[in-house]
Amino acid sequence: MYDFIVVGGGCSGLSAGMYATRLGLKTLVFAELPGGLITTTHLVENWPGIISTTGPDLAMSLYSHAEASGAEIKGEIVSKIEKLPDANGYPQFKTTTSTGEYISKTVLIATGTKHKHLGVPGEKEFENKGVSYCALCDGAFFKNKVVAVVGGGDSAAKEAIFLSEHASKVYLIVRKDFLRAEPLNAQRIAKNPKIEILYKTEIESISGTKSMEKVKFKAGEGTMSGKEIEMQGIFMAIGQDPQTELAKDLGVELNAKREIIINRKSETNIRGVFAAGDCCDSEFKQAITGSAEAVTASYHAFHVCTSGDGF
Ligand code: NDP
Repeated sequence: MYDFIVVGGGCSGLSAGMYATRLGLKTLVFAELPGGLITTTHLVENWPGIISTTGPDLAMSLYSHAEASGAEIKGEIVSKIEKLPDANGYPQFKTTTSTGEYISKTVLIATGTKHKHLGVPGEKEFENKGVSYCALCDGAFFKNKVVAVVGGGDSAAKEAIFLSEHASKVYLIVRKDFLRAEPLNAQRIAKNPKIEILYKTEIESISGTKSMEKVKFKAGEGTMSGKEIEMQGIFMAIGQDPQTELAKDLGVELNAKREIIINRKSETNIRGVFAAGDCCDSEFKQAITGSAEAVTASYHAFHVCTSGDGF
């Protein structure tokens, strides 16, 4: 029997693993992809106390910290979380994975997000043949090539900056007439001679033969209306969808965007079930805020585990 089972091994899940163990909770973290989404970011400059690091390095530090604190970490894939009848006044949950079943008094859901797809012709066909969702993973394959990034948020901005270190030219394709990136990254883009922003521009299709060769743009207000550009790679950075199927099946309340609704204690509508990070309804989604939600959850899970009272 565990006190606290954490589903998800990203920044939030690993922070919870470290913190809960230090509070004395017997903690098990399921980390299917240790480090989560941050491992796909090449530059992290907004983690307090660290001026600059890479996503993989930050993930590795969080993993080591959770492990050193005594958290048990398994790479098993969780297929189900079920509520069992309360025992001696404490809630009980069964977490089923590919290889076993685990019982706990409390659960933290920190399952993060998955990349959104653009849904245009050619996107699926040329995935891994020019179409990518991770510049850090694939950027080095595009040395001295022409590439594009789709999206106007901070992820797209960072992908474009990273790709400019490899590619000869980077188009940043933005459907609105402004960027939503952090001002610092927007300034870096403005100063970068390799990056050209195409505002009010949307993709109609991606085409090629063995790998992608060009992009055709929709007719519209932008300068590329109806035109084509030859390029060898395109990186989609148009946001994320929450991975909340496990939570939904457990009976956890979601909002219209399928994000888990949490309160300031990181509690969900089910006593003993907490959630943290990008899968939640928090307005501000940053690695550090997800970690803070997870730490908050750990603290309140401690109360449930020691007194049975979670609300
Ligand atoms: P965002 O949701 O912020 O931005 C998505 C971008 O993609 C927007 O410009 C959006 O356009 C565009 N877009 C969405 N759908 C389409 C489409 N079908 N066609 C064309 N463009 C489209 O996503 P991000 O991944 O950039 O960021 C997500 C969150 O993660 C944010 O809160 C961000 O601050 C955070 N973040 C945190 C980091 C950290 O912790 N260090 C690092 C990077 C991001 P439109 O504006 O028109 O909707």
